[in-house]
Amino acid sequence: MLRHPMACGKKNTPRAPGGGRPRPELGLYIHLPYCPSRCPYCDFSARAFRAGLARSLMAALPRHMEALAPLAGGRRLDHVYLGGGTPSLWPAAKLAGLLRAVAEALPLALGAEISIEANPGTLSAAKLERLRRAGFNRLSLGAQSFDPGLLKALGRRHSPADTRRAAAQARAAGFANISLDLIYGLPLQDAAQAQADVLAALELGPEHLSLYELTLGPETPFGLSYAKGQPPLPAEDEVAAWEEQALALIEAAGLKRYEVSNFARPGVTCRHNQSTWRGGDYLALGPGAHGHLQGRRWAWTADVEDYLSAVAEGRAPLAFVEELTPEQRALELVMLGLRTAEGVDLTAVGEVLGADPLIAWAGPLARARALGWARLHGSRLVPSWRGLRLADAAAALFT
Ligand code: SF4
Repeated sequence: MLRHPMACGKKNTPRAPGGGRPRPELGLYIHLPYCPSRCPYCDFSARAFRAGLARSLMAALPRHMEALAPLAGGRRLDHVYLGGGTPSLWPAAKLAGLLRAVAEALPLALGAEISIEANPGTLSAAKLERLRRAGFNRLSLGAQSFDPGLLKALGRRHSPADTRRAAAQARAAGFANISLDLIYGLPLQDAAQAQADVLAALELGPEHLSLYELTLGPETPFGLSYAKGQPPLPAEDEVAAWEEQALALIEAAGLKRYEVSNFARPGVTCRHNQSTWRGGDYLALGPGAHGHLQGRRWAWTADVEDYLSAVAEGRAPLAFVEELTPEQRALELVMLGLRTAEGVDLTAVGEVLGADPLIAWAGPLARARALGWARLHGSRLVPSWRGLRLADAAAALFT
């Protein structure tokens, strides 16, 4: 039998007799790359919906899932994250069928977190009930803003009323874990409007909030237009001040920042996100999806037709695969950890590196502390508030 190109050759860390380090958790990220239309700021792997290809893709995913199952090494799925794209474009019956196929190929752990991203305009009370019954237990709503004008400028097809209605219907359907996405730093946005968006989101009582600053992909319509300075974007120090105000409002509402852009009530951080930032293992399904298993990472081709042909022929639809060296992996753990409130687990970094990071990286560690960007707390390197804001610069100290 051919070895799967993503099988990493190492055995999954076994549980030591009588205890010891537990086997690492395993997640699954599923990417459904279709949207009603393409938003002008988007540089994700997403495209406008094409019914024929989308149907073929939904039919091919269970087959690809079966091929991936041996990579789990006997582990159950601790979390599944269905992202995109706009997965909620699909009828609930199709999404339920996909989740069934996943669980048939790889059993879900007891209490597994099953997330789905949704555009508020694609939901109804009946659809949310069906999704909840199918096993989805976390809903991530792409609210983005509660200002009709800004939503229009962002190319979003939903209204603030759609978001409020979807959140209420999700609660009624039994979703106890709801996340909202907001974007800030938008053209023509001011401090009062940015604050109003955060307050409107908090009024819905979400368990989780993601607050993203607008980033301009150079090839997106927004990127091309703003490269010419039109319309003007808010100044960087202005945006930093909004962020500070937003943090105060969010924390006062009982959500804690656990990553640069993510906030959650205690115990309900997004498992997929957390696992990614801790350098955890997750399989990938769908065109453009990325996976990681113990230092080996890969992506499936984002071209839907190529993906479908490869799966039909029993080939791995690889766009790339790479094996990280221990140094690269350790550095990645530092870079990811510096984006999180819990910081970097220096013991884990030392195990990967095969050396004491306090000695190997004595210089960068001293600089990060002298700049006030991070401090040592036991065996962790924990970023300060300023360090989180400057996470990329803090990580650059180690490169
Ligand atoms: S809905 Fe999200 S993924 Fe789809 S085009 Fe808009 S920003 Fe991109």
